[in-house]
Amino acid sequence: MTCKPARLSLCQWDQRYEELYASAPPPYPYGGPLCTHAEDGDQRLTKLLFDNSEAALRLWNFLLSEEDRLQSARDRGKKLVGAMKDLGTVPVMAYALPEVVAFYPDGAWWIPCVMELSAGLLSIADRMGIDETFCPVRAMLGAFETQAHFPIPDLLICSVGATCDDFSAIAQRLAGMGHPILWWEIPHRRFPEAGEEAVTLPGGLQAPRSQVEVVRTELERIKSAFKGLAGVPLTDEMLELSITKTNEVRRLLDRLRYYAYTATPCPLPALEMLIAEMLAIHFCSDQDECVRVLEQLVEEVRSRVIEGTGVLPEDNVRVFWVNPVADLRAMNLLEDCGGRLCGTEFLFCHALEPIPEDLPPMEALACSALADPMVGSAADRAARILAEIKRFGAEAVAISRIPGASHCATEGTIIRDYLQASMTLPILEIEIPPICDGMAASIKNRLRALVETARSQR
Ligand code: SF4
Repeated sequence: MTCKPARLSLCQWDQRYEELYASAPPPYPYGGPLCTHAEDGDQRLTKLLFDNSEAALRLWNFLLSEEDRLQSARDRGKKLVGAMKDLGTVPVMAYALPEVVAFYPDGAWWIPCVMELSAGLLSIADRMGIDETFCPVRAMLGAFETQAHFPIPDLLICSVGATCDDFSAIAQRLAGMGHPILWWEIPHRRFPEAGEEAVTLPGGLQAPRSQVEVVRTELERIKSAFKGLAGVPLTDEMLELSITKTNEVRRLLDRLRYYAYTATPCPLPALEMLIAEMLAIHFCSDQDECVRVLEQLVEEVRSRVIEGTGVLPEDNVRVFWVNPVADLRAMNLLEDCGGRLCGTEFLFCHALEPIPEDLPPMEALACSALADPMVGSAADRAARILAEIKRFGAEAVAISRIPGASHCATEGTIIRDYLQASMTLPILEIEIPPICDGMAASIKNRLRALVETARSQR
């Protein structure tokens, strides 16, 4: 059933679900009305607006069924890998092995929001001495403690070195709780010195060849651990196949971002774009299904672009968004205030870049890991953000601070100063807590001011 693109509340979606699937359920096993997730505890859904397409419904159901998918993998005897912090590299290795499934326990970051604090994970972290001076990733400790949100992985892998203090401290606390962790080191990325052999990384940054070698050697240790876990060696052929599949996900996301961030009217809401981009880091625990989910979404958005239809008024201001929001509702608020998403940098832009297919696979993965925006300087990150702002033609920039995040204390200012030296677009720096309802009025005021300033500059 085709219908005009729109944003729907949860209740409206449930009525639409009844109309769409009265005779047969959706053609994938994790389908169902969104209200079932809210009834299971994901109460934040009752406060959000969702895109009304079947493709978006599938995206949400895919995301919200991940815990079941992980439990089912465990029940079928698959080995579970908990990758931590690198956001986009270790899972590519894991999915090369058919009997291994990888996910990020870091994803617990969003549980306080999605469950509106009802799971008590932040309180548990508080009691363990990891209070609100840390970023929301501290919810991961509570998730390990309660064992109620994902199965405890058979192998935990965490990157250290060029890692934020928050994650480093929390992962060490996790090890102290008795969860063994395979640590691997990623160095702080630096620009090659004169005379030093340089490598161009995915995304265009450069690093010395010696750093790529260090990371490759570290990833070799993970490869050995995978052999111990799966009982079979992880060959270059298997890795190449996984890199090809990963790049298919990244190509689909690139197409989706191009349509969603350049077309007028805006063909897909900001919230669905945030969720879709997140699939890049570990495919929501099913690489093949992730491709199908994204294909349907790209097709939906492509049709809307061809038909010239969209979900927001044509003159909504094009806003580039920096950092993921602790409360998903902030994405709705942006649109309620006359904005639309026009490019993002959610801390994992390296996971959106294709992995080189013309290099030996371990070297290609090392290059991909070193392209992480969080392992280099804030100035590197700002330069990349500026390039994306120009690419998508943004009219304003929102830098959302993550509560407690160690890097956010100064990074926003560095990014802002860098951008202001090179462009005249209005910039807003704003903190978004895990539940922003109490501050919604002031957040909206500030977003409206950003939007109106950008409008006045047209
Ligand atoms: S401080 Fe930032 S980079 Fe570190 S875990 Fe939190 S959100 Fe991620």
